[in-house]
Amino acid sequence: MINNWPNTIAHIDADAFFASCELARNPHLRGKPLMVLGKLDSCILAKSPEAKIAGVTTAMPVWDAKKLCPNGVFIQGDFRYYTLISRQMMAILCEWSPVVEVYSVDEAFVDMNGLRGMYRKSFDQIGDKIREQIKNDLGITVSVGVSVNKTLAKMGCEINKPDGTTIISGRKIDEFLAKIPVTDVPGIGYSRGELLKKYRVENCLHLAKMPQSFVQRLFGKMGVLLWRELRGEISFPILSDPPPPKNIGRTSSFEKPVSDLRMVEGLAFFHLERALNALYRHRMIASEITLHLRNKDFQIYGIPYQFSKPTADFFKIAKVLKSLINQIPSGHIWRSTGVILSKLSDGKSLQYDLFEGAEKALNSEKVDEAKAHINEKYGQFTVRSGSTLYLGGKCKKQSNRMGLI
Ligand SMILES: [Mg+2]
Repeated sequence: MINNWPNTIAHIDADAFFASCELARNPHLRGKPLMVLGKLDSCILAKSPEAKIAGVTTAMPVWDAKKLCPNGVFIQGDFRYYTLISRQMMAILCEWSPVVEVYSVDEAFVDMNGLRGMYRKSFDQIGDKIREQIKNDLGITVSVGVSVNKTLAKMGCEINKPDGTTIISGRKIDEFLAKIPVTDVPGIGYSRGELLKKYRVENCLHLAKMPQSFVQRLFGKMGVLLWRELRGEISFPILSDPPPPKNIGRTSSFEKPVSDLRMVEGLAFFHLERALNALYRHRMIASEITLHLRNKDFQIYGIPYQFSKPTADFFKIAKVLKSLINQIPSGHIWRSTGVILSKLSDGKSLQYDLFEGAEKALNSEKVDEAKAHINEKYGQFTVRSGSTLYLGGKCKKQSNRMGLI
């Protein structure tokens, strides 16, 4: 048993974020089954509660969702707008605490230590005030979980969705854990759950009470970190300045598996544009690119290429990608493709090759910059690689997904 509040962290998670954003600006659609479509319009990215009741799930193909909801409203994702709402939501959280970790587009961890005294309110009241402010200012609802560490705050946040606040103080941890099946712990899926069942570990309290050696043997080091958090200790501190990514990958499936390599080229270049956007945003350069492919039998192929020196130059990387596409083994039907940029380093360390000519390198940098500027202003893919034309109208001009893609 630990004290009530040796440390306090809140997890804030928007409810059905993309769908809520659409409802906030289209209030006349409230009460209807609304679905937001992902990239290339092929799958459901978010759904309103009415669509959920009809059986629609996230990542479901559009044609299946249309069968379940023939009168549903289908909206193409507008990521520029969602990013704007996300930034406003994070700004509200920063008004409440100086330490906020943006965990995803619609989730954040907030350091609550010291806030009770500062606002003269209980954690419960602070959670409710945060929800209220986000609802009033942005028109979307969020759920809040407050506990002694990240894992417990996140698990707490889940149980009172939508639009709820859950408080799990140190002394209430055991009572809370006893109600939660182990499969609800982030990182423990169905098969691990089945394994634990054999040891009569069914709820989280059972797991938290098992010896460390048992958890280590079954789930390794990561499992032990999680087990410590279930016991109220801290394995994962708040990172208000998250570390830069180690690699950037962007991949997706075709609507239907294809054998035409021009389609593979189109989708691979579409993802190259997206991966490079993320690379530019992090001001990084890459030493390696891998063309990722998965065939209809779900076998995965990776064709890697190592650059002679790290780069972020679109033309240089595009030329390499084209050569990797030429190496694709024949006779396959492809289900998905994409690119992974890896061995990333800080873009400031970029050095121009004396023999290549600094002027040439600077010119292509200027083209990349101008392209990024136009796409930022007029929407992603306004200016894009000609290879994406193989995708036909599927790669139409899209809104920017600033901070996300
Ligand atoms: Mg959410």
